[in-house]
Amino acid sequence: MCGIAGYYSREGSEAVLQVRQALYSQQHRGQESCGIASSNGQNLRVQKAMGYVKEAFHEDILEKMPGFASIGHSRYPTRGTSEISNTQPYIIETLSGPIYAIASNGDIVNYDEVADELRIKGVHFSSKNDGELLGRFIVYYHERENMKITDAIKLLMSRIKGAYSAVFLTRENLYAFRDIYGFRPMMIGNYGRDIAIASESCALDILRVENLREVKPGEIIVVTPNNEFYLDYFNDPLIADQQKRSYKHCVFELVYFARPDSAQFNEYVYDVRNKIGAKLASYDDDIPVDVVIPVPDSANFIAQGYARERGIPYEMGLIRNHYVGRTFIKPNQSARDESVRQKFNPLKDFFKGKRIVLIDDSIVRGTTIRKLVRMIKGAGATEVHLRIGSPPVTYSCYYGIDTPTRGELIANRMTIPEIEEYLCADSLKYLHEQDLRDCVKESDNFCYACFNGKYPIERSGDGGTSC
Ligand code: SF4
Repeated sequence: MCGIAGYYSREGSEAVLQVRQALYSQQHRGQESCGIASSNGQNLRVQKAMGYVKEAFHEDILEKMPGFASIGHSRYPTRGTSEISNTQPYIIETLSGPIYAIASNGDIVNYDEVADELRIKGVHFSSKNDGELLGRFIVYYHERENMKITDAIKLLMSRIKGAYSAVFLTRENLYAFRDIYGFRPMMIGNYGRDIAIASESCALDILRVENLREVKPGEIIVVTPNNEFYLDYFNDPLIADQQKRSYKHCVFELVYFARPDSAQFNEYVYDVRNKIGAKLASYDDDIPVDVVIPVPDSANFIAQGYARERGIPYEMGLIRNHYVGRTFIKPNQSARDESVRQKFNPLKDFFKGKRIVLIDDSIVRGTTIRKLVRMIKGAGATEVHLRIGSPPVTYSCYYGIDTPTRGELIANRMTIPEIEEYLCADSLKYLHEQDLRDCVKESDNFCYACFNGKYPIERSGDGGTSC
């Protein structure tokens, strides 16, 4: 995962301030590190830091990088080390100085193959990050093979397989492009004559952006001082043979990652989650319970849909410390264990003698939910029935939400009755894949590979460091 943003100002606003605001609104997409690059027409400047956007980018830092165009990135590490060298945006220097910057969200599946090809041509890499690969590919073909930048990006779409939603900055122009499957979201809109880009619509709502739409899979958008150009290569013969003529949006974005106030892939996120809750409720007609509670925050709307459908009270029995961050995003198991204890606390006396339906969006490793079931029972609940708003996660993701091995996935190691016992739940039910499909409008345009192993793109090599 990761959050990206771009802003091109023609109305006199400081682009870096807008990008910082957009990244701040998307902090949930990546909390490990962040970076912002800007152009004033002469120079590109970049600032990067570990940690949260709000702490990293005070006004005094941004004042040193004024400009009319800017891009930014907040990182969620799926692979690669937690260090500043893996933080984006990447600046690419030429003999003329630092004149290109790139930030991307996703995961390249043929990283090794493409990086080796570029190395043979004399290209050097300073990291194993996917964003750098995309940037160096474009710059090589633009600078050394005299291609227009848009042609280099089109060639990139034909050669580089995987998930990428990216913003690319030169001294004059801002580019935005998205892989032909559209795995990761990317939105564009305008504020007067300014152009804004972000991973999620909630970021652009906060910037008061209008005419909001998705950057289409296979589309390149070029923003110049006077105009915008929209190039749609989804059906281009150069890249058509590697695609299956349908998008493959990540359905997990709607289930878990995106903010509920975002619209993604032509769906309102909160709406999809409400529908998932109603589907789960339809499995449960006979279970007498007193109250429905969500694992906050991502399961809130699923629990709301469930409670409404069954006519059972919906309560917030677990209180989440919002300053701890997402446990799934923490880089290692000990950090995740510590976060769970710090992150959730049950309301005192709330659970005593109650039969609970506990709703979560998904179970990946099972660590968090196991602790929560024990915590709730320890607080006096007589029964805890678990309902999960997605099918069992049995395969790793290679398109931007990596779980390093299948062995870490609890549903790959255990049957549902075994998981139920391991979690100390009184019952456990997952959403069926067909019901998840029924909750989205264009179900064939989604990827469900982490549930069914049907990967839209085959993977080769060990890959680079995804964001
Ligand atoms: Fe999303 Fe799962 Fe597909 Fe990865 S494998 S893109 S998490 S649906």
